[in-house]
Amino acid sequence: MSEVKAYGAADSKADLKEIKIERRAIKPRDVKIKITYCGVCHSDIHTVRNDWGGSKYPVVPGHEIIGKVLEIGNEVENVKVGDTVGVGCMVDSCRECEPCKNDLEQFCEKGMVGTYNGKDKHLGGHTYGGYSEEVVVDNYYVLRVPKNLDENAVAPLLCAGITTFSPLNHWKVSKGDKVGVIGLGGLGHMGIKFAHAMGAHVVMITTSPDKADDAKRLGADEVLISKDADAMKKHANSFDFLLNTVPVGHDINPYISLLKIDATMCMVGAVEPLEAVHGGSLIMGRKNVAGSLIGGIKETQEMLDFCGEHNIVSDIEMIDMNTINEAYERVVNGDVKYRFVIDMESLRN
Ligand code: NAP
Ligand code: ZN
Ligand code: ZN
Repeated sequence: MSEVKAYGAADSKADLKEIKIERRAIKPRDVKIKITYCGVCHSDIHTVRNDWGGSKYPVVPGHEIIGKVLEIGNEVENVKVGDTVGVGCMVDSCRECEPCKNDLEQFCEKGMVGTYNGKDKHLGGHTYGGYSEEVVVDNYYVLRVPKNLDENAVAPLLCAGITTFSPLNHWKVSKGDKVGVIGLGGLGHMGIKFAHAMGAHVVMITTSPDKADDAKRLGADEVLISKDADAMKKHANSFDFLLNTVPVGHDINPYISLLKIDATMCMVGAVEPLEAVHGGSLIMGRKNVAGSLIGGIKETQEMLDFCGEHNIVSDIEMIDMNTINEAYERVVNGDVKYRFVIDMESLRN
């Protein structure tokens, strides 16, 4: 075992501050990673603040991890010492159940182990995430990073990237489809980039008119202000697919009105109750509301390879570890373009 520095929250009201945590000694299939960058996901904040209940303290968040391989166990073949690698939201799953066998480890029947706040099978207690100097992970959950991409801007792909890529891929978004991305934050900005790269006609649906220019720069063909009822009406019944990244419970009825017959809105943001849906709005048009959780390991690698081919990375703002509490406030206020990434050197100094 080794002791490393990390940033954690002692309870749901506490600021994050420097603490010490243990990392296990590597086993034959483990990879020890020196973390270089870690993205800041809104889920980190939800977990620190116990918005979803069940948080275990101290919470050491971080599931958009990029780092260099320091050491590998003797059965590891997919990476070697010195490689730049990524770790996303999962560090274990049973690998025997139907979902696991079908590359859907995120839905493991025995419960996937989250990178943080999961059950730590090795040391007991709960898992600690990427706001730390090092992490030890089973090689199955370690991803290869395309060499042509800036590694700091790759970090957010490990969660924001796969969470938006997977539903666009699953619902087969393709050339000519009219796709709406709701909410221009960390997830939303990746949603625009992917839908654009897949050839869709992309509409950014936002509450913030001042984000319109950015949305277009990121690849949106049009911008629709969701608070403008007339503009919403003009787009009624016209979308082939909607990706909803709004991070809180809200009224989804206005968005359902935008869907074509048989079309789907996939929810990825609000992991909490939504306002009541009017059955008629689904019945009239055979419309679908669905959900999606990150993506499996195979698909996460496909997403990273897709990003390598299409030169896609996240738009980031780099921060030092000791400014994380201010950064959280800015994420909650929608004031980040479009993902904070922590330079983990700042924790080592
Ligand atoms: P974020 O950066 O804070 O972005 C959310 C965006 O939603 C905001 O920028 C804002 O965009 C819009 N928004 C915020 N409050 C709103 C409201 N009350 N009504 C309408 N729109 C609102 O968050 P994120 O990191 O992208 O994460 C989004 C959510 O996804 C979080 O809840 C996170 O926990 C969740 N998540 C889920 C998964 C999954 O696997 N399903 C994975 C990762 C994260 P505009 O200003 O453009 O309106
Ligand atoms: Zn996340
Ligand atoms: Zn399983």
